[in-house]
Amino acid sequence: AARASRGVQGLKAYDPGHDLVAFRRTFSESQLVELGSNENPYGPSPDARAAILDQLHSLHRYPDPLGADLKRALAAKHGVEAKQILLGNGSHELLMQLAQAFAGADDDVVFSRYGFAVFALATQAAGATMRIVPALPDDHPTMPLGHDLDAMAAAITDRTKLVYLANPNNPTGTWFGRDAFAAFMAKVPAHVIVVMDEAYAELADAQADAASALPLLSSHSNLALTRTFSKAYGLAGLRVGYLIGAPGLVAVMERLRESFNVNGPALAACEAALGDTAHLQWARERNAEQRVALAEAFERRGLRVAPSQTNFVLVQFGPQTAHIEAELTRRGVVLRPMGGYGLPDYLRVTVGTVDENRRLLAAIDDVLGQVR
Ligand code: PMP
Repeated sequence: AARASRGVQGLKAYDPGHDLVAFRRTFSESQLVELGSNENPYGPSPDARAAILDQLHSLHRYPDPLGADLKRALAAKHGVEAKQILLGNGSHELLMQLAQAFAGADDDVVFSRYGFAVFALATQAAGATMRIVPALPDDHPTMPLGHDLDAMAAAITDRTKLVYLANPNNPTGTWFGRDAFAAFMAKVPAHVIVVMDEAYAELADAQADAASALPLLSSHSNLALTRTFSKAYGLAGLRVGYLIGAPGLVAVMERLRESFNVNGPALAACEAALGDTAHLQWARERNAEQRVALAEAFERRGLRVAPSQTNFVLVQFGPQTAHIEAELTRRGVVLRPMGGYGLPDYLRVTVGTVDENRRLLAAIDDVLGQVR
């Protein structure tokens, strides 16, 4: 039988939590409450849809392999040069390729215990060694389960090639401020690439200090940021993410890029979505308002909610979590179980629309009524 490489032998395939295709067959649209994948319930800008329709006449052509127009638009948005941008088939692809490019068999990769799941996957696939740093404790006063930046800096050795961080992080929702991150960067040796996953950056409140690391790029050529169109822009189905880094780092990554990794309709739709800043702002505000309402609703029910600056909340349901989750599933409510992260007492709940959140809470009241 085919034998995978040592790193790949230890891997499990990505698990989206539930078989959503089966769910959609079992439940009608009005019964199903899909809050398991941190998607944007409002969808993309109408301009993005129109741009896709416009592309339908040229599906027989390969897209621009470099995605030059989208890179130019992104460069303008972020105040960087186009050669500092790399496009990916979702930011997941870029996170994987970063390990492939910079970490190998004799190298260490550092990340936090509850850092995004792809960090572990990418490290193992590259055959490198995981240095998993304990998170802040679950009774931490402000940032339970968050990244412990001091401990992460201390875990870096001569063998470390890469550090992965997410701000805000999934699945915890936790974040750290720019000053704390700048102090962290000052401790990181120049040979270590620091990957800052900012998939949820657009959803953070301006006053929450979950600030982007973008301003640090000009002084740190070993810093790479990743962003995505899957969350705030509501384009998860198109699979587009991007990386921002020093031109030299981007040039190395371009060697690994598959030809035409981002398709034509996706390139056009993302460029159009960038132009509709009003839609982005609208979705951000709805999300922020519903995130607060949802967290308060859980707290009123005596459930602990970790602080969040994203479009989801991590809720502690306690020892009965697996049973509660199974009962919610039976009612067509899909949340994300956290057993794979080693947090079996928690469920991750995506912030939905007013109506979805209302149906979610009704199902939860129903189930809690039986359990309590
Ligand atoms: N980073 C984080 C922190 C995420 O939560 C996700 C999606 N769940 C991703 C990256 C990957 O997103 P995508 O591949 O859709 O860009």
